[in-house]
Amino acid sequence: MLRNSLLWVSTNPFLAERLPRYRFVQKATKRFMPGETFDDAAGVAQALQAKGIATTTTLLGENLNSLDEADLVVSQYQENLRRIKEVGLDMEISVKPTQIGLDFGVDEARDRLAQLANSTDSLVWVDMEASEYVDRTLDIFRSVKEEKGNVGLCVQSYLRRTEADIEALLPLDPAIRIVKGAYNESEAVAFPGKGDVDRGFVTLTQTLLRARLNGGRGRVVLGTHDPRMIGETTRIAFELGLGKEQYEFAMLFGIQREEQERLVRQGHNVRVLVSYGSAWFPWYMRRLAERPANLWFVAKQLVR
Ligand SMILES: Cc1cc2nc3c(=O)[nH]c(=O)nc-3n(C[C@H](O)[C@H](O)[C@H](O)COP(=O)(O)OP(=O)(O)OC[C@H]3O[C@@H](n4cnc5c(N)ncnc54)[C@H](O)[C@@H]3O)c2cc1C
Repeated sequence: MLRNSLLWVSTNPFLAERLPRYRFVQKATKRFMPGETFDDAAGVAQALQAKGIATTTTLLGENLNSLDEADLVVSQYQENLRRIKEVGLDMEISVKPTQIGLDFGVDEARDRLAQLANSTDSLVWVDMEASEYVDRTLDIFRSVKEEKGNVGLCVQSYLRRTEADIEALLPLDPAIRIVKGAYNESEAVAFPGKGDVDRGFVTLTQTLLRARLNGGRGRVVLGTHDPRMIGETTRIAFELGLGKEQYEFAMLFGIQREEQERLVRQGHNVRVLVSYGSAWFPWYMRRLAERPANLWFVAKQLVR
């Protein structure tokens, strides 16, 4: 109920316009994002790298008003890629399809994703947004993957279709980040119960790790903070006889920090997603929806 309310707030333009003006809301976001500029993200990435943790960065923002805005997003990412190389950061980028023009057409987003992939030798990750975008996101991913190779895709275990999507993608040797999914979806497309979402996560993990065992070269990234999913992954890998270098864990900046460091100490690859940008409101509401207990931090900032 609270999750659905927070997800509703995340898509409400009136609240998106007003709530971010309050200082207590701005302060509460600090827990999940270091700041609004790429410099803020890069500073944190350097500190994490010193602890053996790699990073991915994302510029917040979605559903743009024009293709000119999409071009600005592309040039900002290109500048970031230049800086990442210059500074020597182990940092990848992750982009939302609607941020690079998907609402204006598949070709528009595809061309901009290709521009980003052409600007770097490292992997460009494609986020997965609400279910209405999945077919078009798969189209742009496939097309750039076949042409250029260095793109990865996020998939959501709460969607009923994802198992079939992964089976269809396997011949491409894809780099895949599995997450549970963060949007408000209907029962027609998504599992309503946590048990099914978790089971889906484990099944997808099994499928991708088996593909590695059979010589697949695609990266397997588990984007989760859930200790049970982390445990299941290490169990499956162990049973298949796969080493820790065959998969990676990814978490969001500010969440489960101790777990991130514990996994690194155990020899696991860990990558933290560091977000930045001024359009943080819908993204921040989705983080609160994942764990309504986080509302407590907002309340504390209000009291202070
Ligand atoms: C690297 C990365 C990339 C992602 N990319 C996408 C994407 O492209 N598309 C998409 O739909 N979703 C994306 N997500 C979000 C994802 O779908 C989930 O909503 C989110 O990761 C919470 O699910 P969980 O697996 O951590 O487990 P949950 O079952 O939600 O939580 C398990 C435990 O993790 C901790 N936890 C989880 N979330 C929080 C939080 N916000 N604050 C504090 N503690 C928390 C709590 O201890 C909780 O009990 C991404 C997540 C990560 C880590």
